[in-house]
Amino acid sequence: MTFIETTTAGVTYMIAPNIPARHAFTTRLGGVSGGYLASLNLGEHRGDAPENVRENYRRLGLALGFDPARLVFTKQVHGNAVRAVTAADAHMLFTPVPYEADGIVTDDPEAVLICFTADCVPVLLCDARRGVVGAVHCGWRSSVADILGAAVARMEELGARRQDIRAAIGPSIGYCCFEVGPEVVGAAEAYLGGDTAGLVRPNPAAEGKSFLDLRGANARRLAQLGLDPANIAVSGECTVCSHDKYWSHRYTKGQRGSQGAVITLAGLSKGLGQ
Ligand SMILES: [Zn+2]
Repeated sequence: MTFIETTTAGVTYMIAPNIPARHAFTTRLGGVSGGYLASLNLGEHRGDAPENVRENYRRLGLALGFDPARLVFTKQVHGNAVRAVTAADAHMLFTPVPYEADGIVTDDPEAVLICFTADCVPVLLCDARRGVVGAVHCGWRSSVADILGAAVARMEELGARRQDIRAAIGPSIGYCCFEVGPEVVGAAEAYLGGDTAGLVRPNPAAEGKSFLDLRGANARRLAQLGLDPANIAVSGECTVCSHDKYWSHRYTKGQRGSQGAVITLAGLSKGLGQ
């Protein structure tokens, strides 16, 4: 399932054709930030001028058709906490974020969920029948701590059914570039119950190092959790290889902005996408 590149109001983003709710995986393209943050930086803590970040959010809201004041942020800490939120949790830019969580879910059409990445894997989840969505930041630490298991459980607490959840696994560091040590391979094997066939290959150029397909691992975990594999879309784009289009922490050695994975139930009638 191929993601679709779209440009609206000057902002370029990717959408997954299987997700009926309004959503986007943003790129670097279409903002006003300059220098190494050029141009669509959505990170508040990357050294950008607040007026640039605010303008970038204004443009993104215009492009996708939502009010940036409805965005719900979290402080991402590479853990496995997933929090259910509502529009009351909306974040005012450049004020403290009151809680730590790497995943958020909601059944509130007034809320707009966002999670931030720059190589880590962003996962958007949507049960359109019951009107429940989620945004999950899946770095390798959160992945092997089974944050997706926690996200599916929180969505079910809001009425979702896992066999109806659709997932989009966004642009992130690819199998081509994600070199890891044996401790990460071991952790991936443990969380997938040993089912890492096709997800790990040794790096012949570096003793003891392997490449890990972290997007593929997350897709496999979602299937293990009971999602229909036909409902799981996986981006083919690597943020390191495509560093002109996406923010990559590894490529830039940390001198980078942040992209967002955004989803909202606004405008979605329950029962769509069945
Ligand atoms: Zn790559």
